[in-house]
Amino acid sequence: MHRFSPEPIPVTAARSGVPCLCASRRALILRGHPGGLALWCSDCDQSVPFDDSRLPGPCLLEVRRFARQFDHIYGLWLESSEYEGWAADELFRAGSALNRLGRVVACHVSGTLPCLYALASDPTSGGDEDETVVVPACPVCGRAPAASARFPSTSALVCSACGLLLAR
Ligand SMILES: [Zn+2]
Ligand SMILES: [Zn+2]
Repeated sequence: MHRFSPEPIPVTAARSGVPCLCASRRALILRGHPGGLALWCSDCDQSVPFDDSRLPGPCLLEVRRFARQFDHIYGLWLESSEYEGWAADELFRAGSALNRLGRVVACHVSGTLPCLYALASDPTSGGDEDETVVVPACPVCGRAPAASARFPSTSALVCSACGLLLAR
């Protein structure tokens, strides 16, 4: 049993369950979520329904595939079964197969609308220090991430070279 709530990605504040109603979107965030949501509006930070994403069909299939895989692996992690360690590695390690897939899919989404991939951060590492956690370097390229005006609704940092959104 995990002692924390099933909320793996403290990148965002607002998440009321109401889908994004923005008339136009400047950018998208690809972020796995329990239940199979994966696309988020960079302006309001609410989920973007797949059918309302205006992505071309093949790209949407990739997004759905990523969303399914995240959901399955997240389920294995929550079960605390013999797969828990493997699942945690897939969810939280930047170079895992799941996260490599996420970055590739976000890159393809960017062909339609700028899209960053939000890396999940492990809620079990950090403990009481959560408020002061800093991301010293991008876990993929090692460079310092920066704030981005294109993703104003989050307090996260961006590595534009790697297409990553990182929790601050
Ligand atoms: Zn929106
Ligand atoms: Zn990077």
